[in-house]
Amino acid sequence: MLELDDRELFRERMFYGGRWHDGRRHLEVRNPADGRVLGRVPDADEAAVRAAVAAAAAAFPAWRDEGGPARGRLLQRWYELLEIHREDLARLITLEQGKPLAEARAEVDYAAGFLSWFAGEAPRAYGEVIPAARAGEHIVVLREPIGVTAAITPWNFPAAMLARKAAAALAAGCTMVARPASATPFTALALAELADRAGLPAGVFNVVTGAAERIARTLLAEEAVRKLSFTGSTAVGRELMALCAEGPKRIALELGGNAPFIVFADADLERAVAGALAAKFRNGGQTCVAANRFLVQKPVYEGFLERMAEAIGRLRVGPGWAPSVDIGPLIDQAAVDKVLDHIEDARAKGARCLVGGGLHDLGPPYVQPTLLAEVSPAMRLWNEETFGPVVGVAPFEDEAEAIALGNATPYGLAAYFYTRDLDRAWRVARALEAGMIGINEGLISNPAVPFGGVKASGMGREGAHQGLEAYLETKYLCFGGARPS
Ligand code: NAP
Repeated sequence: MLELDDRELFRERMFYGGRWHDGRRHLEVRNPADGRVLGRVPDADEAAVRAAVAAAAAAFPAWRDEGGPARGRLLQRWYELLEIHREDLARLITLEQGKPLAEARAEVDYAAGFLSWFAGEAPRAYGEVIPAARAGEHIVVLREPIGVTAAITPWNFPAAMLARKAAAALAAGCTMVARPASATPFTALALAELADRAGLPAGVFNVVTGAAERIARTLLAEEAVRKLSFTGSTAVGRELMALCAEGPKRIALELGGNAPFIVFADADLERAVAGALAAKFRNGGQTCVAANRFLVQKPVYEGFLERMAEAIGRLRVGPGWAPSVDIGPLIDQAAVDKVLDHIEDARAKGARCLVGGGLHDLGPPYVQPTLLAEVSPAMRLWNEETFGPVVGVAPFEDEAEAIALGNATPYGLAAYFYTRDLDRAWRVARALEAGMIGINEGLISNPAVPFGGVKASGMGREGAHQGLEAYLETKYLCFGGARPS
């Protein structure tokens, strides 16, 4: 098992107003790999959530007025602390989330990348000057921070999903109350500890833990909270959007996906297989941008299956801290049940199982990496995010059919395709209904790009300059009656 070098990063308290707080009730957090209790966190009551919001509201004016460069320097210091404590943070992620240590390190780098990126963006909240329509008038547009913001994040990337929101909000001059997933609160609390060490003023970044629905309702009932940024399932996103309608409050939604991965006959098959492995098996398939439906053109269908079978057969399954493990445990029993149901349902409806197909010898929560051929739209795995290590492949005839099948989903987060034909690359990229398209590429996330989806995959973008804009309000000033020079 893993030990932290810096035990102070393991916090079993909430952080708001620059101090650590306990609660009356608590929730246990377990290691998904072996079910052992890692620790417990407070189950925030309404008073605690309101106190966190009050701290964020009190901190807001000074943080807003601090200026972008000064905010950027503090974010950069926070970034440096993530780099310094990279190994401990990776251990924490593996302990509470389950992913292999190498992937956990990559997640820390990804999370730190958002802090660094937005440290650079903080001074760039440019406004504009509009040529006046009348003599003596001056028109100026300011970009101002929205105010207190709330964030609710999922368990699959406990560091990166939080850093992506917090870095942008804080760079813009907003303050934040964050509520991490109950399966993975310790990474968020470690980030709060490092924010404190970096010198972020009290109340700028706050973390509350506990029952999701109560915290969300309390946060969104607070007038001071101006925006919610949510990453998670589409079902919960809908509920939160309804709650935001009351305010009304702004909302950004990063929701589920059902990404197609299309391989045309002219593709470089080696690259397509490497991309397919990356797009599917990162985090054991538990990513929102995971390829979920593999569509392969008929002339290369069997060749692709053969190569995939070979590559999937080599994947090693085990606890995330074991050396050379490619795939860790799934997050919980419900996740295991869902993945096994998808496999069973597909087999019952005619899919051919080429690799895996059930529980791993290690038992739950370990599932075998699985390859299914001849999947079809009648199957659950075609219509729902499997969120597990299962590749389902279907053949297609031509480009028009690939596009139609690719778009035949309510979701639109990511899509991937492989081709060597430049004209086709443009055509297909334009035709696919998704917020992000990987063309001959299976890994597309990066702090400098606008991450987000269309259709039922959400609204708003995180990362890039769009990420900063998401936390800025527009104010127009009209100066009238100026004396001519
Ligand atoms: P989830 O059940 O929607 O949970 C996400 C977060 O919402 C967790 O913090 C959860 O708390 C909380 N939550 C649950 N029910 C709630 C309620 N009624 N009111 C308020 N908050 C509530 O999703 P998940 O299964 O944890 O995460 C996987 C989903 O996230 C997948 O669909 C995946 O595609 C999506 N995701 C999207 C992106 C993206 O950027 N588009 C990135 C990562 C993941 P608890 O932990 O206590 O349940």
